[in-house]
Amino acid sequence: MSDVVSRVLVQCPETGDTVGTVMRLRPSAFEALRGEYGFRCTRCGKVHTWRKENAWLEGGPGV
Ligand SMILES: [Zn+2]
Repeated sequence: MSDVVSRVLVQCPETGDTVGTVMRLRPSAFEALRGEYGFRCTRCGKVHTWRKENAWLEGGPGV
């Protein structure tokens, strides 16, 4: 597994589109995430919360 910094992506619950959060992490740091994070969605303009379980790294599985 590569250890490059990637954008954390989530699915916007309003539009169903994939959107990037402000978070950029290495895979090892992403796996260590705990808790909830918030960001303002670039698609719908609302603030969404996300957890590691419903997010993924750009370029990884699920993209
Ligand atoms: Zn949204």
